[in-house]
Amino acid sequence: MLLTITTTHSPATDLGFLLHKHPDRFQSFDLSFGKAHVFYPEVSEERCAACLLLDIDPVGMVRRKVKDQQVLLDHYVNDRPYVASSFMSVAISQVFGSALNGRCKDRPDIVTTPLPLTACIDVLPARGGERFLRQIFEPLGYTIKAQQHSLDELFPDWGESSYFSVKIEGTKRLSELLNHLYVLIPVFDNRKHYFVGDDELEKLLAKGAGWLAQHPEKEQITRRYLKHQTSLFQTALARLVEEEQTAQIESRTKDDQPEEVLEKPMSLNEQRHGTVLATLRSSGARSVIDLGCGEGKLLRELLKDRQFEQIIGMDVSIRALENASKRLKLERLPERQAARVQLQHGSLIYRDQRLKGFDAAALVEVIEHLDPPRLAALERVVFEFARPKTVVLTTPNQEFNVMWETLPADQFRHSDHRFEWTRQESQDWANRVAAQYGYTVRFLPVGQEEKNVGSPTQMGVFEHV
Ligand code: SAH
Repeated sequence: MLLTITTTHSPATDLGFLLHKHPDRFQSFDLSFGKAHVFYPEVSEERCAACLLLDIDPVGMVRRKVKDQQVLLDHYVNDRPYVASSFMSVAISQVFGSALNGRCKDRPDIVTTPLPLTACIDVLPARGGERFLRQIFEPLGYTIKAQQHSLDELFPDWGESSYFSVKIEGTKRLSELLNHLYVLIPVFDNRKHYFVGDDELEKLLAKGAGWLAQHPEKEQITRRYLKHQTSLFQTALARLVEEEQTAQIESRTKDDQPEEVLEKPMSLNEQRHGTVLATLRSSGARSVIDLGCGEGKLLRELLKDRQFEQIIGMDVSIRALENASKRLKLERLPERQAARVQLQHGSLIYRDQRLKGFDAAALVEVIEHLDPPRLAALERVVFEFARPKTVVLTTPNQEFNVMWETLPADQFRHSDHRFEWTRQESQDWANRVAAQYGYTVRFLPVGQEEKNVGSPTQMGVFEHV
């Protein structure tokens, strides 16, 4: 089984640096299922091709099987030595590991450069045919040529097989191409030679980082990669959907922040953080976790007050955390200050040991960013598992929206809000949550109160019974 990667980048011999394999050498590697060989059939400044040849040993593999397993003829005679399958993914990760992970000590510049690349897979068992090949590779920006093989050239009546020779072409970083192949080859094959467990889920999410969440066929890819194991599939999909949403939130909040612009004249944001800070102070908390800390404005205020000995900011958005780190000047804080504050990447809809053991948690303008099923998960994560003594939560008061002349009647304050509640709705929700998880709750207005509509923000303070 042969995989050939070709580039016409100039100088094309850079491919040797990227793959960490010298173009003049023929190299062989022992793998658990046979051997892998790397060689370059073509080397020039204009064009360079590297081959990864797998020599799978089906007999050796059967011999290594546990003794009491029944050995069938199929174990000896099968297509595995001749087709690209999950064995190829294993070989890619073991033989081209540095390239797969985007590392190149000698030439870090070319790792991040998209290059004109072609990958030829000699024989790919593609159940789903050419249409499926296109559905998978084209959204990733590749052009694709696929040639289907007949079952037997001597007997054309037998028709076509499900085996294809496939050529994909695109301008990509080499690590991108290898990650795509690593995940997708077993997806076409739809058969895997090793047990699929939690570890596979993590591998899929790591190798799929940055592209799988946005792929229109992510469900099919995930289901097939995880060998149709429903529970793993659902976990993976939930995490991919979340990654996609985060990317969307980030792209929306990148340039302007309508909510902040809208609320600016009242500097509501500052009033909100001031009120939350005062409430946290009076709760006596020494350790505080700011859940959905965003760009770290509340963290900065907390850091100024010595009462708070341990301050954690957590958010699902990496971009927000990077901005928080800049705002807090984490790199330059004196040692004692730096020891008090930490940023954590995480999501409020998954149980997480790191959220436990705090005196207080802040949830400032976060819950309205979650769809109802996710909000239900957040409730359990915060009030049942993390269970801080005090939770200070704020959310917009929808009734107040009429006071903003520039906000059309049917719109939320921020395009990412999934809901905005009236005072009654917020209080009903908070009372229900408090009763369910053994907390008391009291409500406070934040910002200037107006007749009939109340204050712009509503705050709930939950405390352990
Ligand atoms: N608390 C901050 C930011 C509010 S904006 C402040 O008062 O300024 C809402 C924040 O919630 C965003 O930073 C968003 O990334 C974060 N968020 C949304 N869904 C989340 C989730 N599931 N887990 C953790 N944070 C989340």
